[in-house]
Amino acid sequence: MNQQYDVIVLGAGAAGLMCAIEAGKRGRRVLVLERADRIGKKILISGGGRCNFTNLHTTPENFLSSNPHFAKSALARYTPADFIRLVEKHGILYHEKKLGQLFCDRAASDITAMLEQECRDAQVEIRCNSKIEAVHNDASGTGLTPSGQFIVQVQTHSDSAEMRFIAPHLVVATGGLSIAKIGATSFGYDLARQFGLNIVSPRPALVPLAFTERDRRRWCDLAGVSCEVTASVAATKKKRASFRENMLFTHQGISGPAILQISSYRDGKQAICLDLAADRDLMAELHAFDHRDQASWKSVVREILPRRFADRWLETYPPAGNSDRAFMDAARQLHEWEINPETTEGYGKAEVTAGGINTDELSAKTMESRKVPGLFFVGEVVDVTGQLGGFNFQWAWASGFCAGQAL
Ligand SMILES: Cc1cc2nc3c(=O)[nH]c(=O)nc-3n(C[C@H](O)[C@H](O)[C@H](O)COP(=O)(O)OP(=O)(O)OC[C@H]3O[C@@H](n4cnc5c(N)ncnc54)[C@H](O)[C@@H]3O)c2cc1C
Repeated sequence: MNQQYDVIVLGAGAAGLMCAIEAGKRGRRVLVLERADRIGKKILISGGGRCNFTNLHTTPENFLSSNPHFAKSALARYTPADFIRLVEKHGILYHEKKLGQLFCDRAASDITAMLEQECRDAQVEIRCNSKIEAVHNDASGTGLTPSGQFIVQVQTHSDSAEMRFIAPHLVVATGGLSIAKIGATSFGYDLARQFGLNIVSPRPALVPLAFTERDRRRWCDLAGVSCEVTASVAATKKKRASFRENMLFTHQGISGPAILQISSYRDGKQAICLDLAADRDLMAELHAFDHRDQASWKSVVREILPRRFADRWLETYPPAGNSDRAFMDAARQLHEWEINPETTEGYGKAEVTAGGINTDELSAKTMESRKVPGLFFVGEVVDVTGQLGGFNFQWAWASGFCAGQAL
């Protein structure tokens, strides 16, 4: 039997639920189909279980996309203040951790409970355990016409029964490829290809970096050691991306906020420059010693870096003598440590997927496909990727909201 709706949303994550709520509030009959056994699994594990649900300082510059202007309209129409109002309406307690990052005081489940309640209030129907078998635009599955209906064929996990749902509007909110074990699939990209839409090649972003074998042997027994750095990389021919945050050694290479941020801007080949002594004038510090020698240099380095890292650094990069020149070179090395990670730790560890549905294919106002009327893409599946710090959820809420207003 075919069941008719006004809107079918594929994926009950942040973007899909926000879109469903807004469309439901506008009186649309909305069905959300979710493959997993519950909604918002990624929300539940986000922000270390506390969900960094937005960032007070959100601007379009916090996002990466082939078209840097695309996100502007949606981010302006649905702001962090709008989401904070929703959170406060539900009495959810939250705090700013740092740099405008807002987290739940209690647990991320406060956010999923809030979204679930909003869905109930807007009479949105949610069906979990729904594996989508196929999507067609009409009964025969041939080319789409503006007046066409989308037919979604679904297999329910519970009884393996096959069901068909029909609607004139289909919203794809199935996220990216990050963390397959909690339900990430390539479904959104596959569907876009099925309808002839272009995709910017997906790649892991906000992801730890893995060293070459040689660097692993040299540094990775320091796993667990962290320090503040300024990490930078040539983001474009003209512009360097730069982040001052913590870096952490891991068993594979390096991670920590500074490295996750910079990973999104690296095409896999450029060297990363780490300033391990940002804002410090090392030569001046050295001049404060009566004698400039290896011992005074050791004191300076030990004051800047954690002890084990400092000692490894001194073994690896000893000054070539006691001349000013030698110390200047040693200081430069500390300010400009160039590293060339071999690869990333992949989608299994990536917080997001960069790339996705090419924004040229979509209306920036509604997220609707330009080629296929009635077909919408929202959230991470679109080629808009936020920096670390609550920006990815803000994009999910904003893009979901804009599509919901257009349905
Ligand atoms: C460990 C971790 C921590 C994070 N922490 C933060 C944070 O604190 N702040 C922040 O801003 N961002 C964070 N992110 C990123 C953020 O979670 C995502 O950017 C955001 O959830 C994207 O929302 P979405 O709705 O587009 O996709 P998702 O949340 O991925 O939702 C997609 C949904 O679609 C479902 N689905 C997939 N395929 C199908 C299919 N074929 N049929 C039906 N359903 C399907 C999935 O099961 C999922 O429920 C984190 C990510 C990870 C992995």
